[in-house]
Amino acid sequence: MRRPSWDDYFIEMARLVAARSTCPRRQVGAVLVRDNRLVATGYNGSVRGAPHCDEAGCLLVRQGERESCVRTVHAELNALLQCAVTGVSSQGATLISTDFPCVHCAKAIVQAGVRRVVYLSEYPDPNSAAVFAEGGVEVLRAVPRAEGGYRLVRGAPSEESGTSETPG
Ligand SMILES: [Zn+2]
Ligand SMILES: [Zn+2]
Repeated sequence: MRRPSWDDYFIEMARLVAARSTCPRRQVGAVLVRDNRLVATGYNGSVRGAPHCDEAGCLLVRQGERESCVRTVHAELNALLQCAVTGVSSQGATLISTDFPCVHCAKAIVQAGVRRVVYLSEYPDPNSAAVFAEGGVEVLRAVPRAEGGYRLVRGAPSEESGTSETPG
């Protein structure tokens, strides 16, 4: 029996949370953790009361090179907003997300006092990386191990290669 590390445990939890997403373009999950305890969870989905992407279709807006769905509240922001709803502090927490946060979420993450971000996918956003660097947030990529579980590599995804092997 292989007992998962705390990081592996919460990374797998973020992946499970992502499965609740209602946007077919991209399913993202985030968990907020402090002292190895779950503080909040979030996935990308519609604003309360509004139709979901999987019912009404995505609301696509071209932003520079990319076309994005703007119907949803992002997973990372939803996790932080869950703290606002339940009255739990996000100060000093770690945010674990299946995707590298966008610049809007990055700003909210810094402002909410989150100290550490762990992400899985290599979706580069140099603006987010700058926000985290300036805000003093530690950024780590979770890289799957062949034998199962993840190892954490410091750094944001890089624009050129799509990888983030930037050493600490
Ligand atoms: Zn959508
Ligand atoms: Zn976002």
